[in-house]
Amino acid sequence: NFRCRSAFKLLEIDDKFRLLQPGYSVVDCGAAPGAWSQVAVQRVNSAGTSRHDQGLPRGTVIGIDLLNIPPLDGAHFLSCHDVTHAATHTKLQELLPQGQAHVILSDMAPNASGFRDMDHERLITMCLSLIDLAEMILLPRGSLLCKYWDGVLSHQLQEKLSSVFHSVRSIKPDASRKDSAERYFLARMYKKPVK
Ligand code: SAM
Repeated sequence: NFRCRSAFKLLEIDDKFRLLQPGYSVVDCGAAPGAWSQVAVQRVNSAGTSRHDQGLPRGTVIGIDLLNIPPLDGAHFLSCHDVTHAATHTKLQELLPQGQAHVILSDMAPNASGFRDMDHERLITMCLSLIDLAEMILLPRGSLLCKYWDGVLSHQLQEKLSSVFHSVRSIKPDASRKDSAERYFLARMYKKPVK
């Protein structure tokens, strides 16, 4: 049983692109109420409950949200944390094994104001902050999956992602309402900038 229907969007994307592998470290941004984290826990085996495959490596799932996220076996939650704050990035780095993640997921969304352009811009700005987070914690060849609301700035976000990932594509899952502007960028093969 999933906490929210959004789980089906991640299941659908992961069935197709196999982002989440046993043993992987995953950061789930905007995780409340926790359905994506439930999917991630199963797929990276962070609760160690894959009964059929003993000996599978155990992964890590860290979820972050401004809101409270009810506890979940196999996940570590940072409730009341803002993903765009540098202090959260530092905390994540401390919690992740070797300070690094294989995958960053983001289903984050601001509270919709109802003004479509404004909501679009705010969400794009939040997505751009994930690129800073990636620079700090994402492993070379890692992946970033992020929700956005389509609009005039989508192309700018795509370009930014393309400058640091080898492969970037836009996805509209079947499980996402047809009449919503919601889409996801899947950016793969992170090219970690050399410092
Ligand atoms: N993927 C979740 C699930 O499956 O349960 C649903 C996520 S919900 C669509 C979007 C979440 O993003 C909200 O819970 C909201 O509080 C969170 N959010 C929005 N802005 C945020 C921010 N700056 N930092 C952390 N979380 C944020």
